[in-house]
Amino acid sequence: MKKKCKIAVLAGDGIGLEIMESALKVLDVISKKYGIEFEFRKALVGGAAIDETGDPLPEETLKLCKESDAVLFGAVGGEKWDNLPTDKRPEKGLLKIRKELDLFANIRPAKAYNALLDSSPLKNNIIKGVDLIVLRELTGGIYFGEPRGIEERNGEKVGFNTMIYYEHEIKRIAKLAFELARGRRKKVTSVDKANVLEVSALWREVVTQVHNDYTDVDLEHMYVDNCAMQLIRRPKDFDVIVTGNMFGDIISDEAGALTGSLGMLPSASIGERYAFYEPIHGSAPDIAGKGIANPIAMILSAAMMLDITCKLPQASKDIEKAVDKVLEEGYRTTDIWSPGTKKVSTDEMTDLIIKYIQES
Ligand code: NAD
Repeated sequence: MKKKCKIAVLAGDGIGLEIMESALKVLDVISKKYGIEFEFRKALVGGAAIDETGDPLPEETLKLCKESDAVLFGAVGGEKWDNLPTDKRPEKGLLKIRKELDLFANIRPAKAYNALLDSSPLKNNIIKGVDLIVLRELTGGIYFGEPRGIEERNGEKVGFNTMIYYEHEIKRIAKLAFELARGRRKKVTSVDKANVLEVSALWREVVTQVHNDYTDVDLEHMYVDNCAMQLIRRPKDFDVIVTGNMFGDIISDEAGALTGSLGMLPSASIGERYAFYEPIHGSAPDIAGKGIANPIAMILSAAMMLDITCKLPQASKDIEKAVDKVLEEGYRTTDIWSPGTKKVSTDEMTDLIIKYIQES
């Protein structure tokens, strides 16, 4: 466990502000319970930063992120800034941070809560017990490969991209996959298209090599088209799915949709030096300021930070258990409410989670 964690707190816009308050309140309680000291340093990002400085990611904010152990991020964006040129919009701030911090791995858990099985598009017996993570390579592959472009050849236009992975890029993400699996059910599914793509054949070869250092973890290889199908047919069988940038983009959205609730999904993006934690949803302008946003995705993002950056897995588990309990007791924010359950505000949900953390 770290004794002290320096956290850059970037709440952003819309519900980002409300749910960040919830996460900080929970972290205060964890600080007291586990004797860890957090130094929270707040900075502007997104629309709020544009209003103040004209820049969605002011230099000062970036500097603060680079001086911190982790970045806790809310959400950015809103109607007010929708008509700005693309490079001046709030979302640009987020993209720039990801790039500047060289976050090569994106971790997205998808967990089915017993109390929310009915919000899944899948049948209860298929979704019950699902607890998986998708680990997506984030800085390489076809989204960044060169050459790329649209040009004229033989009198017509042609568009092209390059899917490319260096050995070292595959090695570092594979290593992370096996490390994550060790703290879970010890199974890694590496997803590729090795029957068609050379880049995938290399991916498979390198992942298999890295596995030699992790023989306590099971490794299976799966083609991406089959994985897309198996995720719907038997999602329970997956533990850690590791894959490249484009396949991960698609598979992580599919996995997120299995559980049905945007307000429940946290994420982490990890680099060699930096780590960044955020809910997967946006700033939800339609409900901002009403005190009804679901704070759980943000609180669970903070829980991931406790586990990965602060090396406090027990605290992270405390939070997850408290979330389970709150849901089992029938408390719901508006987005996950259904008849027969108890509707609570953002603050009430936060206080209930805190109460269960303190009781555990
Ligand atoms: P969104 O995720 O903000 O909202 C989609 C729907 O889900 C809305 O109805 C919203 O009320 C609801 N929702 C989302 N999170 C919720 C929560 N925690 N509790 C309750 N309900 C929740 O997506 P959008 O409407 O497409 O985008 C709104 C703004 O957010 C845009 O400006 C967009 O560019 C931005 N955005 C930012 C991020 C980010 O900061 N990472 C991600 C996606 C979208």
